[in-house]
Amino acid sequence: MTLNNSGMVRASVGYAAPCPFCGNDAEFWGTQVLVDRRLRWDIEQRCPHCGQEVAICGGSGHDVPAELRDRLLSASGPVRLVLPAGAGAAVTMKVLRSVYGGDLQTTRRLFQQVREGDFSGTLPEVILLVRSLDEAGIAAEAVRSGALPGRSGRKRKDPLGAGPGGGGAGARVRCGSGGSSR
Ligand SMILES: [Zn+2]
Repeated sequence: MTLNNSGMVRASVGYAAPCPFCGNDAEFWGTQVLVDRRLRWDIEQRCPHCGQEVAICGGSGHDVPAELRDRLLSASGPVRLVLPAGAGAAVTMKVLRSVYGGDLQTTRRLFQQVREGDFSGTLPEVILLVRSLDEAGIAAEAVRSGALPGRSGRKRKDPLGAGPGGGGAGARVRCGSGGSSR
């Protein structure tokens, strides 16, 4: 069974970091979201001291900042991509290349990682691969490390209490990551 094979998959993390305007601790909310086949990321900041609110409406694709990615991974744990037994190397590599680009060598290395169960990423990243593989006829799974497969990615930390519900992070999403496309 695959996780959420269509629609939106989100990973979010709230954290405190110095406000770029006044230097006090501000609240940050980072999100990476997969809408159908499109990855995007956003960072929003709200400072309780100086009142500044900033939304960094990030890019699409795999250019998520390393710092945000690390936070997402440590907040909700990495998700592993698991190939079914007998998944064809050629087809799998073709899918990996279509998602990540890169040359044949890079793709081959990636494939080896995936095949050995060593490939993991954020939930949206891995679900993107699951969907792409699914379309190619390969029933891969996204497995949260240390958890049983088959659960949806709804469980997430919400330390700021800012994001109730599954569909959107409260009313504070200003970057179109709530599902609208741009
Ligand atoms: Zn501030």
